[in-house]
Amino acid sequence: MNVLPLIEAKREGKALSEQQIHSTIAAFTRGEVPDYQMAALLMAIVFRGLDGAETQALTVALRDSGRRLEFPDDPRPLVDKHSTGGVGDKVSLVLAPLLTCLGFRVPMISGRGLGITGGTLDKLESIPGFTTALPIPRIVQQVQEVGCVICGQSDDMVPADRALYALRDVTGTVPSIPLITASILSKKLAEGVGCLLLDVKFGAAAFMQTENRARDLATNMVRLASDCGVRTRALLTDMNVPLGRAAGNLLEVREAVECLEGKGPADLEQLVVESAAHILVLARQCADHSAACDRAREVLRSRKPVAKWEQMLAAQGVNIDAYHKEVSHRFAPVITELRADREGFVQRSDARVIGQVVRDLGAGRMQKDSKIQPLVGVDEIAKPGERVAANAALCRVHASSARDGEIAIQRLKSAFGVGETGGSPIRLIADIVS
Ligand code: URA
Repeated sequence: MNVLPLIEAKREGKALSEQQIHSTIAAFTRGEVPDYQMAALLMAIVFRGLDGAETQALTVALRDSGRRLEFPDDPRPLVDKHSTGGVGDKVSLVLAPLLTCLGFRVPMISGRGLGITGGTLDKLESIPGFTTALPIPRIVQQVQEVGCVICGQSDDMVPADRALYALRDVTGTVPSIPLITASILSKKLAEGVGCLLLDVKFGAAAFMQTENRARDLATNMVRLASDCGVRTRALLTDMNVPLGRAAGNLLEVREAVECLEGKGPADLEQLVVESAAHILVLARQCADHSAACDRAREVLRSRKPVAKWEQMLAAQGVNIDAYHKEVSHRFAPVITELRADREGFVQRSDARVIGQVVRDLGAGRMQKDSKIQPLVGVDEIAKPGERVAANAALCRVHASSARDGEIAIQRLKSAFGVGETGGSPIRLIADIVS
């Protein structure tokens, strides 16, 4: 296929037809479009954009580049939630079992962390034995039997997005609203869900730095997913401060389990409960948001989601007895504290700096094939508005060596600010796009 005329057309700001987009993606999937031409087309799209019809054509072409999940008829609605990624965002780990206990089926195909945003799969793989690579028949079987699965995209699901994303990552072509929309939604459409909640994060540690950019992305995704027949709504949520008090793979799993046991940090529990409530309303299982919040909170408190979580772990390869013995006792070799040099109110806990430190401790990747350290990270993070005494801990660092711990502590000093007053409260959920 000769894609040069399409590259030139997009360079000049012209719209591509549905047919042109479909045949380009089909040819790229067959390996018939060289990376240098696809990269040129992607860069033209970054600068010239795609209109609604082009974005829809790209989304559908990516979805149809591989196989889709197909489920038997069942009264339990198929739903999912997707977050654009942040620091300390472990909502999916709590939400999938909670939604299952609320009567849904949840085929959650998740991603890995890149840069400073953590990845759900990396967090789950910090649990010994947990497998995230499942073939399509097993994904479907587990959803039918357990009610939820959290796993990676199988090789034959949306392969064109996998290849395109790898190319975008190394050609500076990730930050484009139509490309992000098509990439995320192609995967969600391939899951075959009827309802989708998007958590579009904005702020210092998010893809979208401003609330307005996040709103543009959310509006684009909600419109397109709805046009494709998936009832969708998006929350715009703050990512200037980490979610919860822990960032780092096993540390986040531990905090997610605390939340499942009703002992989680308030902001995490709020986002979990609100997310479940939005899905209950979207799926027409509850008429009213506040009644839906009450129902989600009641089920979260019932301890049934903890049992469902363990059932999901067992189905994905974890020995539950060993998990109970080991997971709460496994810690990094060095644990140190950053202490406040004065008393006062925490005014800042900067998610960007904390995310960078956590990644550099080894919890995230500098390169695609970097090896993840499951035990390292930062926890007990003090949050804006909280009062601290002089010399009280602002956070704890879990490191592989004393030197790594010392470097992290030095860098984390710039993440926290303590002053006379509490600063303005965070709007965790700033807006809803539906
Ligand atoms: N996540 C994705 O899956 N794709 C993007 O383009 C950006 C974030």
